Amino acid sequence: MDTELLNTVKETLKKEKALLEQELSSIAAKDPRVAGDWDSKHPRVPEGNEEEAADEVEEYEERNLVEQTLETRLRDVVSALAKIANNAYGTCEKCGAQIQKERLVAVPSARTCEHCM
Ligand SMILES: [Zn+2]
Repeated sequence: MDTELLNTVKETLKKEKALLEQELSSIAAKDPRVAGDWDSKHPRVPEGNEEEAADEVEEYEERNLVEQTLETRLRDVVSALAKIANNAYGTCEKCGAQIQKERLVAVPSARTCEHCM
């Protein structure tokens, strides 16, 4: 794989990682026991206010969903960066083929080629 493409992809991934971590830290706390795992911050539920408590639970569930999505994206990004470091970047995880250059530019954290996605 050419160095220029690799550098471009690496920069994009680093920026995406910083952005995802920033987004995650605003809605979740990093789990100190599991690397790369995040826990949604549980909103405070005021005592004796059931209506508000129900809203809080709904908000928490929604936040949890967003957190899962961000976490998955972050994992892909981290895994892609690790592959670059190990000279294993750009190979499809399913069929082992070289992932198309255009796809890597569009989705630098892609794990699979066009045929396997
Ligand atoms: Zn494939």
